[in-house]
Parts: sequence; structure tokens; C-alpha cells
Amino acid sequence: MAGLLATPGCERRARLVGVLDHAAVRLGAPEPHQSPFALARAAQFAGRLARDEHAAVVGLIREHLAIEPGDTVTSTLATALADPEPRLHVVPGPTVIPLPTRRPAPPHAATLQELVSSAKPPATAPPPPSTPTLQEMVLSTARPDTGPELDTGPLLLVSGPTPHLVAVRTYAMVDGQADPSKVAATSREVAVIVAALRAAHPAVSARVLLVLPRNFGLAPTGALLDVTPQLARLGHLRLPEPASPDHVADLPHRFGDGCTECPLFDHCASEQTGLVTRLGDTMTNLCGPGTTVAQALADPPPDHVARLKLTAADQGRAIARATVRHAHLAARPLVVTGLHLAGEPAAVVALRYGTAPDDEKLLVVAEPRDREQRMAVLREFAIDLTEYVSSFSTVEPVVRRDFTVVECSTEAPQLITPNPATAEWLTDLLGRYLRRSPDLETVLGGLHLGWFAGRRVLPGASAVLTATGLLGEHWVTGRLAAEDSHLGSLLRLVDPAHPTDPMPAGPVSDPLWDGDVLADVLGRAAELRPVAEAALAGAWRDTWHTLDTLRARLPEIAGHVDERWERDRWSFTSHRNRVEEGTAAFAARLRGVPAYRFLHELETRTAALERQLALDDPLIMERYIVSGEALAGTVTKVDREHTITAASGRELLRPRIWVATPTEFTRPLGTELWLAADPKLMAVVESIEPESVELVVQKGAVQRAQLGRLPATGAEVVFAPFGSEDIFPSRLPEELPWQFGTPDE
Ligand code: SF4
Repeated sequence: MAGLLATPGCERRARLVGVLDHAAVRLGAPEPHQSPFALARAAQFAGRLARDEHAAVVGLIREHLAIEPGDTVTSTLATALADPEPRLHVVPGPTVIPLPTRRPAPPHAATLQELVSSAKPPATAPPPPSTPTLQEMVLSTARPDTGPELDTGPLLLVSGPTPHLVAVRTYAMVDGQADPSKVAATSREVAVIVAALRAAHPAVSARVLLVLPRNFGLAPTGALLDVTPQLARLGHLRLPEPASPDHVADLPHRFGDGCTECPLFDHCASEQTGLVTRLGDTMTNLCGPGTTVAQALADPPPDHVARLKLTAADQGRAIARATVRHAHLAARPLVVTGLHLAGEPAAVVALRYGTAPDDEKLLVVAEPRDREQRMAVLREFAIDLTEYVSSFSTVEPVVRRDFTVVECSTEAPQLITPNPATAEWLTDLLGRYLRRSPDLETVLGGLHLGWFAGRRVLPGASAVLTATGLLGEHWVTGRLAAEDSHLGSLLRLVDPAHPTDPMPAGPVSDPLWDGDVLADVLGRAAELRPVAEAALAGAWRDTWHTLDTLRARLPEIAGHVDERWERDRWSFTSHRNRVEEGTAAFAARLRGVPAYRFLHELETRTAALERQLALDDPLIMERYIVSGEALAGTVTKVDREHTITAASGRELLRPRIWVATPTEFTRPLGTELWLAADPKLMAVVESIEPESVELVVQKGAVQRAQLGRLPATGAEVVFAPFGSEDIFPSRLPEELPWQFGTPDE
């Protein structure tokens, strides 16, 4: 049911609710698996919560729900919902909520009516009858032998006039923040349970207490989750009659971006071959559902990237979207791949790293759940990282505008991981973990990772790069964007001769491998070592092959790439100075002024990067020409002497340029455009004829001494919507926007 909220509008999935996994297995998908380590951690966390009659949960209920629970009792669901006093009820699983049925219920099943009759009368009015309720939806998908029911597993409920659900999950909340995609998935799951509980007690609150492990241990922490929007979406779901898993192919479906999480993905994706729906929602919206790739290519949409994606789908390979390399690849990057135990990011299983494909080091933690063992291994990694970072000690003098001389590092360290998930795990999570250590060398490694974490999120920075990110920036594929997160399969589309590795590139391993291989060798370092090496072999080889492919196929250009790398070098210089002075520190969470500055910098850099990429690369500029934002053509005439009379009566030089365009230019008169080859020259659109556009120069060539900047007659030109670059201001606005609070906060 929760999955339907991620893939709205798919009748096939809706009609197979409850039997989706079964249907997928029958069509050849592997049996669904959960890692035994994830299950063990969940059990461990549940055990921790149960200590002292759930004392920690009671504390979180007080803190976040402002309710004082009387005591903690083990109850049935009906008792818990009927209890008017505030108590924490532990409802042991499996908790099957029977739902009302319009057909005779089997004799063993309690009906919803029984639950309702034993529960307290509803404190608020039930939803209007016209709104489809969850039980109506489940009813339509129920198997005839059992009647409609929803199995929610064990539950924690706070009773009272407005009962509250307590949802327990095992992903961590680190420094007050949890993974947003996991929280979103939890919201959908919890909304289904709340909707089901409301069948018995309509006053069940939409505000749910979410309990998660805090930071890297098992101590619980909490946050309020309001699932009102998800409940509203559930209310709008309309489920058709259930279908048998035997007839999957006959059921209408809607393939789209959310499908990658659906058990039927492989089957449905194979049905889309040759259709634009295979490329995702954006392409379907651009080209229309049911359109074949061949039809779309014959009448392509006005979007250059969409056209490249269609070509990629047509040819079954990745197509280059750039003619030059837009990232700086350092001569001696540090490539890092790694694995951690499922559900426990701090439980490092293995790290494989080095500055050349054949110069690597493999660290394994025999028992990753043993804090001392993993800290010893992480300390070794931290020392190696510090040694690598310290090797960039050469500086060069730079004379500033005020004639002061400062020093800047001539090179900066560069971290490269197989995918963004590994980069985030390594720099952000492990960085925070190492900085909590009492050992100074471990902390130093954590400080360096903190610097990498800051650069990782800045658009255009090259201090942290990922193999899938690099491939995605320079090639497009004819499939869903989420599929490109698998390094092996993406690389295979870019370089078909490269062998494919089906294993995930980390940092989370395949749950099947966890149970079949890792579980057998954990605790025995000698046996774990070759296993971990083999598990990381694909990611290691593919990451280096990505770098080789980029170097071989796309030349790095000077100019903007150098400028962006120079910012990395300046940032590294500051970081190194702060480390030497002992003042390097990283806030757990940005607030107030630093948060405003950071977001403003992200916006400024994003806009600047878009401009730089287009000016550096004709293939990227093509996107703006195809969409009509830029004007491309041949200069047919230049009037260098044209003048206008200012309000003061002065004659002002304003040369005119006529550009013959092969396609119609539809931007309004007065549009400001900058010459791509010399962005200081700005002109406005004066008149538009079917095959010619007249521009009047307003900046950059309005003095006689500047007339040499004007393009010559016969020259091929591009006028683009990119003027001079915004500079990230060093001054702050007088007042911060309200959402950032005041500077003192
Ligand atoms: S994978 Fe198939 S069944 Fe699942 S949501 Fe997508 S189209 Fe529907």
C-alpha cells in the first residue's frame, strides 16, 4: 500500500497489492531478501528500547508529544485503542488488523465492528462517506479465504483520547538529521498504519513519534512525523478489483520514475523496450505516452538532452552530452571504495583505497560490530588519509589587488568514490564518527573528511568526485535516471567492451551476499580478507576505468575548469591553515548566518556552473539553441556606425548586427543576449524576421576603441542568455530572510 504512493497511477501494481513479490518471483525476479545484519540490528534496537519498561521511549513521548504516560503495558490492539488513559501500550506482533467486509467473513476473523465496539467512541467525526478509506481499498484487494486485513507487525501505541503511534526504525539520526529519503519512505508506511488504525478509532493522530538510534550507537532519539499529507494521498487512492498474479501481462500499467523500487521492475522495463516511457516521466511528458522512440526521433521535442536520450535508447548505448571534460582530474587522486554492515554505517567491513590502480591498500574489520576493532582500523585509514593530504604542502605566492602577498597550495587532494552514496558515507558519516574519537590522529582524519564533505556538495567543485557522477555529467543513457546509480551497468553503456559487475559498488552490500557469504566469514579476518577484496574488486576496477575513459575520450580544457579547481585549492589552503592553527571545526548543523551564506553560495555556484558549462562546450550550448533561449546563426551585416540620441541630446554609438538563423527565433523583442565567444558584449533583440534577427549592441562595443570586438560579416556566432558571472558576495544582507532566523541564533 505504501509503495503505491511512490508509483501513483499504476493499475498493475494496485491490482497486485499483497501478491506483488509473489508475482515478481514467478516472473523470474529473485526472492526478496533482507540482510541478516539489518534484521539483527533491528532486534538489538528493539531490545534496547524494551529495557526498563520502555523507559527511554516514555521519555521521548514526554519530550515530543507532551504526554505523561502513566505506565507501560502489554496489550491487544483493541485494548490499547479503547484505553482512555495515557499509557504506552506494547502490542506484540504480528498485529493483524481485520477490516470491514461486505462479503461473509471467515469464522476465525474478528471484524472491524468488534474492534470498534470495544474501543472508545470516536472523538472526532469519521471521514465523509464519499472519501475512499483504507479499508475500502484493502477490501478490494483481499483474498477471499481470509477477508481483508492488514498485518502491521508489532506496534507501540500511546493511548488516550487521541492515540498516537510510535514508529521505530533503525536508520540513524546523526547530529539531529536522518536520511530524507528514508524518512519519506517511513512516512508513507506509517500513514498506511495510521489509516488502518483510524478504522477502529478515528481519532488516532496523524502526528507520529519516530524513534531512531542516535548518532552511531543504539541510544534512541525521537522526532515528530506529521503524516497528514500522506493520509490525504491515501484517501485519494482508488484501487481496482484485485487480480491474479498469473495475469500480470494483461494488466494495464504506468511505467515511470518510481518503478525502480517495485518488485516487478525488470518485467515491466522489458515491456517498455522501444517506447519513450522506458526513459522516465519527463520523456513521457515531452513525447506523449505510447510514443515509440522511433516516432519521437522523427519529430523530436525542443530539448537537446531529450533528443540525446532518445538516440541513446535507439542505439542501446550511452551518448556523449559533452565534448570536453568539465571536471578536473588530479594527477594523484585518492580512490576509496568501501562496505559497511547493512543498517549500521559506522560498522565498517572493509575499505580499499589508493592513488593508483595497482597501488592500493585493503583494510578489513574482522568484527565490525566491535567498536574497538573498527576504531583501530579507522585510525589506520585516518593516518593514511592525513599522510595523503599532507603531501600537498607546496605553495605558491599570489599577489592580491591590494599588493599583499598570500600563499595558495599549488595542488589540492582529490577524493574519488564509485558513487555518491559512498562519498556521503565516507566524508559525512565517517568524518563525523572519526571526529568524536579521543585519539588525535583519528580526529585529524575526521577533520580532513569534514573538509571533503563541505566540497562534496558544492556545484563545480572537484575535490570530491564520484564515478557515476562523472559519467552522468558527460553521457546520457536511454533509461531511468535511478538506474544510472549502478556503476557497473552505467559504465557498460559508455564502454560496451568493459566487463559488467552485477555487485553493488557499496557502501551497502547485496543482502543475499550478506547472508550467504559475509555471515560465514565475519569474525575471522583471514577469511574475510579475500571475500571483502573480491566484493570490492568491481567497484575498484570500474572507478579507475571511469577515470581512464574520461581522460582518453574527453580533453580537459583550461579556463573555467581551472578556475573552479583554483577555488578548491584556495579552500584547501584555508583548511590546512586552520588545521595547523588548531582552529578547524565543523558545525553539526548550519543555522542562521552560516546557513544563509551556504545556501546563497549553492545558488550562486549552480547558476555560474550552468553558464560556464554552456560557454565551454558547444554541445551543451546546443541545448539552449534548441530550446530557443540562445540565438545561433551567421552574421549577414554589421552596422558599426549606428548611433542613437540619448535623452540629454548626446549621440551614443550603438552598433547593429544582423544574424541569419536557420530556425525561427521566438524570444520577445528586448531580450538581452551576450556573445558566447566574448560574454562582455551584450545586445538586445531589436527586430525578428522569419530568417533573420537584428540586434543592437548595448555593452562591450559601444566605444570606438572596442569596435574590434564586433563579429565580422560571415562569422558563425551564438548569442546566449549568459552575461557576466555573479560573484559570491562577501557582505551579508542587512536582514536575513525569516527562515534563517537572526544572526544571533
Ligand atoms: S514496475 Fe510495473 S507494476 Fe511496478 S509500478 Fe512500475 S509499471 Fe507498475
